[in-house]
Amino acid sequence: MRIVDVNVRVFNYTSTIIRDDEGHTHPGEEHDARSQLLTVVCDDGSEGYSFGPVGHAVVNSFIKPLVVGEDPYFREKIWQHLVHNQRGSGGTLNDRVLATFELALWDLAGRKLGLPVFKLLGAFRDKVPAYGSTTCGDEMKGGLSTPEDYARFAEWLVKRGYKSIKLHTWMPPIKWAPDPKMDVKACAAVREAVGPDIACTLDCYHAYSREDAYYIGRELEKLNYYWLEEPMDEHSTSSYTWLAEQLDIPILGPESAEGKAQTRAEWIVQKASDMTRTGVMDVGGIIPSMKIVHLAESHGISCEIHSPGGGNLHVLGAMAIPGKWYERGLLHPFTDYEVPPPWLNRIIDPMDKDGFVPVPQGPGLGYDINFAYINGNLVKEK
Ligand code: MG
Repeated sequence: MRIVDVNVRVFNYTSTIIRDDEGHTHPGEEHDARSQLLTVVCDDGSEGYSFGPVGHAVVNSFIKPLVVGEDPYFREKIWQHLVHNQRGSGGTLNDRVLATFELALWDLAGRKLGLPVFKLLGAFRDKVPAYGSTTCGDEMKGGLSTPEDYARFAEWLVKRGYKSIKLHTWMPPIKWAPDPKMDVKACAAVREAVGPDIACTLDCYHAYSREDAYYIGRELEKLNYYWLEEPMDEHSTSSYTWLAEQLDIPILGPESAEGKAQTRAEWIVQKASDMTRTGVMDVGGIIPSMKIVHLAESHGISCEIHSPGGGNLHVLGAMAIPGKWYERGLLHPFTDYEVPPPWLNRIIDPMDKDGFVPVPQGPGLGYDINFAYINGNLVKEK
């Protein structure tokens, strides 16, 4: 079996999620938006699919010339080849594009063999507990504009079944944000609302100073929070080493720092975090995520997985170490996470009343794709 084509379908849909000037998502007015479906095609007619931020140009210029003619089961060889060509791509073949293509290879193999991806990887569990991950704070009445709003929403999340909640608090472009005291107030209000048995965590401003991060960490220790995530710029590894040394609460990271498994290895060696982190779109796919999981396992530390989605669910289904939670979100009082987007017939991550999400059991990544919708809403290539 050989790869004969890679193509992208760009399609329109109506979105009610807006991005602010800093890239954070919030509920908003209906507007036109676009999404992309990447397809890998083989000479026997087999196909694999993946959704992600990839356009025609990078596929035609960098991916297709490197992968057409290859055996799609040689995932490690293909992935390494693409990684070595990232440098010459002028930034277009970034880790998110790489991940989108790599996920389609896993989907293709699973569909061809009739197995879900986590069983190809070596399964460990078939359901994972989820945490409810909120959007960043806002200034919407009844939204997430006050600590009391967070508390009320947290109560609802616990009723829905979540055993863990993660707050994203207020960030720019909100004029008064970030504010460490407000972050702590929101965390205190949530702890008060949900009681002592819910695992609560905070992902706050990504560029706080050491002093602000230290203050927040000490306050969260008093509130028995489970981890503190990305309070400072992750390019300063030594700042994280300093913070992890000072605090008792576990520091989780890196999430957004470039460098795939090598960066995680450096953070472990430099004791820059207590728990490491990967997400398939952050590091270039499932292959590097499993390298990071095994790196963490070998060092005896936890690895928590960033972001929702099928690829991350399969990584979670194949990992044996602590690193337990699936990030379900982002959630907000004004949005309904349970409704699938129009290009899917059902969501990939339904959650039961006890807060568990099953690892998809269908072949490949397990997405139930609405091809009729996608093909009926294609954006014509200019
Ligand atoms: Mg985060």
